[in-house]
Amino acid sequence: MNQDLNAAKALPTLLLVDDSPAIHRLLAVKLKNEGIDFVAAYSGEEAISVANDIKPALVLLDVNMPEMDGFQVLHALKADPETHDIPIIMLSGDDEPEAKVRCFELGAMDYVTKPFQVAELRARISNAIRISKLVELLEKQASIDALTGLGNRAFFDRRLEEEVNKASRTSDSLTLVMCDLDHFKKLNDGFGHPAGDAVLETYAQILKDQLRTYDIPCRYGGEEFAIILPNTDSPASSMICDRIRVALEAAEWPKYPGMKATSSFGVTNISHDGSHDSAAWITAADQALYSAKSNGRNCIHVFENADNIVPAFKLAG
Ligand SMILES: [Mg+2]
Repeated sequence: MNQDLNAAKALPTLLLVDDSPAIHRLLAVKLKNEGIDFVAAYSGEEAISVANDIKPALVLLDVNMPEMDGFQVLHALKADPETHDIPIIMLSGDDEPEAKVRCFELGAMDYVTKPFQVAELRARISNAIRISKLVELLEKQASIDALTGLGNRAFFDRRLEEEVNKASRTSDSLTLVMCDLDHFKKLNDGFGHPAGDAVLETYAQILKDQLRTYDIPCRYGGEEFAIILPNTDSPASSMICDRIRVALEAAEWPKYPGMKATSSFGVTNISHDGSHDSAAWITAADQALYSAKSNGRNCIHVFENADNIVPAFKLAG
């Protein structure tokens, strides 16, 4: 939340790409009171490199440039996941519909014909920034589970694939945990659905409290949660899971006297198999979770390999 507030306070950075120094001078003067931080690039190559470095809020991109033209730059920026979401307004002396259509097909947000009225350009700039913020907000909302505020299933699927790819590239360790509330149906039947929701919300809060900022807790579906733990091996993640397990077991439910909630965990770190397939990770963690469920629940089982799924800790008693 702090990051969001800081981002709102910072001036948006606008990358102006044009081979004509006169355009740079004109816009620097005309837009100097707009609360925009201007960065200049004079060629397509420079634009791509600067856009990657600073991730501007918006790019104003001249179509007619020597060597690499605006179409090529637009294509390159849209093809790179790092710069794909940056809104781009094309600037061109060409008023032909074909050029405009081509820019929109390549992913430009807007197209302004030179010579332009500064007032119109100013309005189009603020419009483009506003729209891209809305799109970002919608994408964020589409990734969040409404009840718990954790990442939802679609978000989890995307992040797991990214983290599995990253771990296989860098050989960093990675752990996936599937966890599940024990006897959740009985709990709903016995205490009512508001009690079930309270347990889901409390569990999500325990995950947020116990995990590190770079861990990725998600609601996988129903009473099942998934946690991606980057740069973490199985022993360390078993310790983290145990803290979560203990915190839920110790939770008190004054509104629901007599209620107890516990959870079971399946842990896997199969990167030593060189597995690049995120589905294999889910299968392995699910098998470990199944093993934890069939061995008394409220415990943590670790998938070593298909023939060897073991309790993380020997529980007392
Ligand atoms: Mg030009």
